[in-house]
Amino acid sequence: MLRVAIVGAGPAGFYTAEALGKRLGPGVAVDIIDRLPTPYGLIRAGVAPDHQSIKAVDRRYHAVLAGGVRFVGHVEVGEGGVSLAELQGLYDAVVLATGAPYDRPLGIPGEDLPGVLGSAAFVGWYNGHPDYAELAVPLARAGACVIGNGNVAIDVARLLAKTPAELAASDMARHARLALGASGVADIHIIGRRGPYQASFTPKEMGELGHLERAQPRVDAGYLPDVAGDAALDPGLRKVVGHLRNFAAAPPAGKPVTITFDFLTRPVAIERHGEALRLVVETTRLDGEVAVGTGVMRAIDCGLIVGCIGYRSAPIAGAPFDAGRGRFVNDGGRIGAGLYATGWARRGPSGTIGTNRPDGIEVAEAIVADVVPAGRSGGVGLDALLAARGVSPVTFSGWQAIDAAETAAATHPSPREKHVTRAALLAAAETAVA
Ligand code: NAP
Repeated sequence: MLRVAIVGAGPAGFYTAEALGKRLGPGVAVDIIDRLPTPYGLIRAGVAPDHQSIKAVDRRYHAVLAGGVRFVGHVEVGEGGVSLAELQGLYDAVVLATGAPYDRPLGIPGEDLPGVLGSAAFVGWYNGHPDYAELAVPLARAGACVIGNGNVAIDVARLLAKTPAELAASDMARHARLALGASGVADIHIIGRRGPYQASFTPKEMGELGHLERAQPRVDAGYLPDVAGDAALDPGLRKVVGHLRNFAAAPPAGKPVTITFDFLTRPVAIERHGEALRLVVETTRLDGEVAVGTGVMRAIDCGLIVGCIGYRSAPIAGAPFDAGRGRFVNDGGRIGAGLYATGWARRGPSGTIGTNRPDGIEVAEAIVADVVPAGRSGGVGLDALLAARGVSPVTFSGWQAIDAAETAAATHPSPREKHVTRAALLAAAETAVA
């Protein structure tokens, strides 16, 4: 029997577990360990709460657990918890599927001021991640700046702009629904240091901005390159730019909220004046694909700044970490003997949920090729270690109890009312029938 521990219960971890099960059947026992009492990682805490169709992939991960892979939730791996060396002693192979849960810093003066948030925190807040339930999110002022030209920036801008009715069928955490329902944000800026041709948006997400109830996207046509250049773009980006051209051409629709795309604009500093923030930005020009400062400065008044400029993985003692790239040092997922990385922990924070599937398959194949079972104790040994330390993990049945409590508490058409503190999650898990 091959015994494998996967650290991280997000998509990358589940695709790896699924692939191992398909390849080895009853010849493999997999434990998926997570620091949270809940599984599914970014599906629960990252994917936008109004994108329920994307979240539906959790049924596939549920089937993995129902098929016998163990969920070992509320267990920290690394500092203060089970060490990587301990896991390696218990299992034949250990896979790091820990994602990239931390924000890349903006690297500009003022980024630590109140009201300046990273997307991990802001997205965690509206998605009910227990680490961010108490986050202070100032929403009283009209101005809000969202920095970055990727899909996370679009998610954040869209959710700042939506009405309570537009969020009714979402699973946004109650505290965020209430706060956003009373929000005074009306002037949202999406700040990109390069131009429309360099943006990382995808067409579906961009198109959605054109159909918001109370918000209109605005693009200054001066940012748009000559249309003749569009033909050479890859099809996805061509559609994105097509949406931007439509937004630029659309007459004012009299909607109270605007989402303005500020291309060729890079943040240089953040200042605080009383309750107000000022994002100081510099106009850039492109030198090839690189943004170069022009020295032309201006300031945008706002109450909230959300940096959506990418994520970083967290190092774990015992695994070599590439701090520059924010991921574990690995070769095709192999870190060292019996130690692997998959998903964002392997590649860095790019790609969609589905991109993790081939990653998981590849890492499962590597494990099958490399590792010979050595009669290790696996889950039995882990359970004994945790019991000796007084740690009670949340199991699959505990998660099912949380899931049942959250769905029972939902108000139609919302699919669930999330528990947002560890205490509430653990209390719900304890109601599971053993
Ligand atoms: P991303 O797509 O890599 O975009 C990051 C953006 O931040 C880029 O526009 C980048 O500009 C900019 N940036 C980086 N450092 C900066 C700095 N110091 N100052 C100003 N701007 C800076 O990352 P993401 O939006 O976090 O998304 C992560 C991944 O999740 C992506 O693959 C994304 O597609 C995916 N995702 C998908 C969905 C969906 O499918 N619905 C939703 C959310 C996220 P440069 O290009 O100039 O570096």
